[in-house]
Amino acid sequence: MQPFTLIQPKDVSAAVIAAGRPGAKYIAGGTDLLQLAKDDVETPDRMIDLEVLDAHGIRVDGNGLHLEPLARMSDVAAHPDVVKNWPVLSQALLASASPQIRNMATMGGNLLQRTRCGYFRDTGFACNKREPGSGCPAITGESRTLAILGVSDHCIASNPGDMAVALTVLDAQIELTGGNGKRTVPIGDFHKIPGDTPHIETVLQPGEMITGIDVPASAAARRSHYLKVRDRASFEFAVVSAAVALEMDGGAIRFARIAAGGVGTKPWRLPEVEAALTGKQADATTLKTAADQAGVGAKTTRMNAFKLMLLKRTVLRALQTVSA
Ligand code: SF4
Repeated sequence: MQPFTLIQPKDVSAAVIAAGRPGAKYIAGGTDLLQLAKDDVETPDRMIDLEVLDAHGIRVDGNGLHLEPLARMSDVAAHPDVVKNWPVLSQALLASASPQIRNMATMGGNLLQRTRCGYFRDTGFACNKREPGSGCPAITGESRTLAILGVSDHCIASNPGDMAVALTVLDAQIELTGGNGKRTVPIGDFHKIPGDTPHIETVLQPGEMITGIDVPASAAARRSHYLKVRDRASFEFAVVSAAVALEMDGGAIRFARIAAGGVGTKPWRLPEVEAALTGKQADATTLKTAADQAGVGAKTTRMNAFKLMLLKRTVLRALQTVSA
């Protein structure tokens, strides 16, 4: 691990200035970054400690849920209003990592966790994401857990998030603060697909930090669900996951938001599934027909082709649960 200087800023402005310098990196819970630093995948020479900032709040008002960036995953998951009005978010958080990690990990940090691609995390291999232009051994190598949607010839790394998939169906807004002030980005625009620059994973500018996550209240949010399929029952990343939010009018679907995890290079919204549900009766035929739309445009490898059928089945089961 490269030695680094720990800087404790007095406020957000000081943090942004400190983090805007080359070689600097924000650290909060540190549950992903410290492991990457120990493995020499991340080599910052200064870390800006955000834990000293007073930004751990969870607030609910008439507009929805307002999360400060350092709110703990475990606190958000257990918040009674979140459990009742945004169940998909609570369920996705509880499906993530382990209780110990959820007690340390923050909402802002979780949005920025790096891929679990084994080549990325092992400096003995080439990797376009870690070292641009060096190659992508995953495309012809070990790719069972990697992405089938949003991939490029340069990278097929899957986004490992659960919470970000839930935030996608909840139409969350991410507040960013940088040297030019504040701006707000829809969750769907926050992460980037790899294209020919897989090392650029989000729209964050140098020094910019996440300063809030706003989640609107809605009937669909109250009727939402997260289903995660993984290789073991706990402390494991998604092979495939589905987040579903439906607004029902009697037996008809008035509004649908569907997203998937484990299959995309970013949290992957499924508009084709949403379109096949909207305005239809929530019967078995509708749900099956809609779920079969999942995965349009998928590009698979020899090792991860099974994910396409698993995605359709996961979406169908999540739809059956939430429409019942
Ligand atoms: Fe690196 Fe992406 Fe290829 Fe994995 S899939 S080796 S992260 S370039």
